Amino acid sequence: MQLTKNIFVETKIGGCNVGYVLTGGGIVLIDSPQRPTVACEWAKEIASKGEPKYLINTECHRDHFTGNCFFKVPVIGQEKTREGILSVPKRDILSRVAVIDPEGYPLVAEREPNPPSITFSDRLTLHSGRHTIELIHHPGHTMGQTSVLIPEERVLFTGDNVFYKTQSFLHSGDIYLWLESLSEIEKLDVDYIVPGHGEVCGKSYLREQRAFILEWIDRVKEAVERGWTKEEAIRGISFADRYPMSPGTEDLMQKVQKNNVSYLYDLLKPERGNSPSVPSF
Ligand SMILES: [Zn+2]
Repeated sequence: MQLTKNIFVETKIGGCNVGYVLTGGGIVLIDSPQRPTVACEWAKEIASKGEPKYLINTECHRDHFTGNCFFKVPVIGQEKTREGILSVPKRDILSRVAVIDPEGYPLVAEREPNPPSITFSDRLTLHSGRHTIELIHHPGHTMGQTSVLIPEERVLFTGDNVFYKTQSFLHSGDIYLWLESLSEIEKLDVDYIVPGHGEVCGKSYLREQRAFILEWIDRVKEAVERGWTKEEAIRGISFADRYPMSPGTEDLMQKVQKNNVSYLYDLLKPERGNSPSVPSF
């Protein structure tokens, strides 16, 4: 769908949200579809609008980069995003494709992956046509997590630091940095937030995202304080009834609950020397 004059996004293709910006200097893509058959359609749609110039990966999870191989453009990612993408074996990429898009399996199997070849640490600014595209390192959901700000369109792509009314995957980054990054995102002057999953929203949703993360922390902290073992916590804690999974990832609901509890339990258990108290934000 067309979000603003020059920005198009898709939020219902299964896997993560993807988008692109039409600039006078070519098209800049944000993330790529995980399903190869969808990625091919996406590539056709983009080609009908102009010449792709760059692709930006907001993070290193498979649903954000599997489709990179369908675009012959340089990929840009934060240093840790590149590292993360390079650490995923092709067999792991293919095993998920086999489940969600068996028809597309050979399309990825035969292609070379296209990991980020341009990296940055804190910020990178692309000037393309009359557009400014700012890549900002906002670690949290993953350590290389990147927001993409297009000030001329008043749009921010956050990747999975924001899950709009869908389950949040908490286990593969740093939850405290995530809360800090949400505060940084709050300061940006935008009308639209394109989350990693779920519908496009506004900044008012950031409060709900933060509250959900804090609720998760509180629930696991309570279990730790009661002396539950990790296994008891995994069995006893679930937020599965709060939000659905984003479309196309429904089969991962139980896995997300388990991974979230497991990650938070290890973080909050006192014997590691970590204080179970949460800094205030
Ligand atoms: Zn993710």
